[in-house]
Amino acid sequence: VKPENNCIVIFGASGDLTHRKLIPAFYHLYANGLLSEEFAILGVSRTEYSDEEFQQKLKASLTANEKVDPETLDAFCQRLHYQAIDTKDVEDYAKLKARLDEIEQAYHTNGNTTFYLATPPSLYSVIPECLSAYGLNNEARGWKRLIVEKPFGYDLATAEQLDTDLHSHFKEHQIYRIDHYLGKETVQNLLVFRFANGMFEPLWNRNFIDYVEITAAEFLGVEERGGYYDGAGAMRDMFQNHLLQVLAMVAMEPPAAINADTMRNEVMKVFQSLQPLSENDLKNNLVLGQYTESDVRGKHLIGYRDEPGVAEDSRTETYVGLKMFIDNWRWNGVPFYVRTGKRLPTRVTEVVIHFKKTPHPVFGANAPENKLIIRIQPDEGILMSFGLKKPGAGFEAKEVSMDFHYESLEETHMLTAYERLLLDSMKGDATLFARSDAVKACWEFVQPILDYKENPEHLYGYAAGTWGPKEADELLTRDNREWRFPCKNLANTDY
Ligand code: NAP
Repeated sequence: VKPENNCIVIFGASGDLTHRKLIPAFYHLYANGLLSEEFAILGVSRTEYSDEEFQQKLKASLTANEKVDPETLDAFCQRLHYQAIDTKDVEDYAKLKARLDEIEQAYHTNGNTTFYLATPPSLYSVIPECLSAYGLNNEARGWKRLIVEKPFGYDLATAEQLDTDLHSHFKEHQIYRIDHYLGKETVQNLLVFRFANGMFEPLWNRNFIDYVEITAAEFLGVEERGGYYDGAGAMRDMFQNHLLQVLAMVAMEPPAAINADTMRNEVMKVFQSLQPLSENDLKNNLVLGQYTESDVRGKHLIGYRDEPGVAEDSRTETYVGLKMFIDNWRWNGVPFYVRTGKRLPTRVTEVVIHFKKTPHPVFGANAPENKLIIRIQPDEGILMSFGLKKPGAGFEAKEVSMDFHYESLEETHMLTAYERLLLDSMKGDATLFARSDAVKACWEFVQPILDYKENPEHLYGYAAGTWGPKEADELLTRDNREWRFPCKNLANTDY
């Protein structure tokens, strides 16, 4: 089913996110015939462009970076419009309203409008307020939706303030908080894998699972984002949002149906069950690290503190490793070891479910354990490892695996995370968007870490291109466990 005719207003239209992610996503949705019969995009920021200049600029960037069909691209670009305003100046919104009225007439949008906040976060409270001054939040004629980009606040207090500000002008059903991890096929596949197969769900609990690993590793450093990153760190940038969302997908109970309310209720229950971190946990179960310079595969990589935009005495963490627990019936006592970092040996996001060993080691203590590896990126897929008899004399067990690559399912165009989420928001489906209460619960869990990291007992250095501080390995080795080494072929990793 296609969305109804509608208009998307992108605040921050001259910015990086719009060029790199949003416009390409809209182009591919359009080229694959997934958008409404009539739809328009209205870009808004302070830089002055005419419609034609805006169209030419985006056309050039789409041609340079995407696989495009020239005729489709021309038709797509005709739907792009632009209005310069100062988003902080409420008077300027009269111009925006006038453009929206014109677009409504030209594209028969019936007033259906999405406002996408792709501006600096300091404007996330200002824009909704100004929109409401012109009744642009009013759903009497046509739906009005607000898409908000991360970060949803800087800590618990600012997140709560942002929520109050958003709710002063838009109702929760109008607000779509984007966490692009939830748009990834393989994150959604976790749900299908778990709840469409009778084989795994009976084992998916404390009785059969020994521990769970979640890894989100990046090979890249902070690139041009040093200034932003130095004020955020891995905890805010990756852990508080993406990794906790993935954890919820692994840990949640089966929803009664797949819709926004039932799904998000189950996600919320996981967040409510996260065992709060004690002072002892912060000291013993949390490892913060920062990468230092190193030579990796023939190339010199600078340390974090030498990156442009980063303070030379910065105490910001580029690595977090945490052992945590979920206090509920299903997961009691099962550790979740979660890690994320920059300048690790490769780019990989995966979940590893380690099943318990057999009760009696008939084939020796070193017989392979059963692991289920859910690869979220790259090379999305599922790998299951188990023990089989090594050919020859005796009964030695050898680890073998069954490996499924998601690309072999790719019969039609595989939607990128932004394509999927933009399409869902146009259809009014909020299932894969973060709900207000869940965002708050994540901040509540993370806040003690944010307080602690202001003045941590240890911030460990780790050489760029390694798997983080050795103390993070000790989180597992002291429990007689170890992290899975996710990638065999590092030579292919791009710089
Ligand atoms: P950016 O490149 O700095 O772009 C910011 C945009 O906001 C520009 O178009 C800027 O245009 C506009 N803007 C700033 N002040 C304005 C004002 N007073 N009135 C009107 N427009 C104003 O930032 P970005 O990387 O695109 O990121 C945008 C948001 O998305 C940020 O909140 C970021 O955290 C979030 N985000 C970005 C990414 C990413 O990959 N880039 C990923 C996840 C989340 P003018 O200067 O022309 O006004």
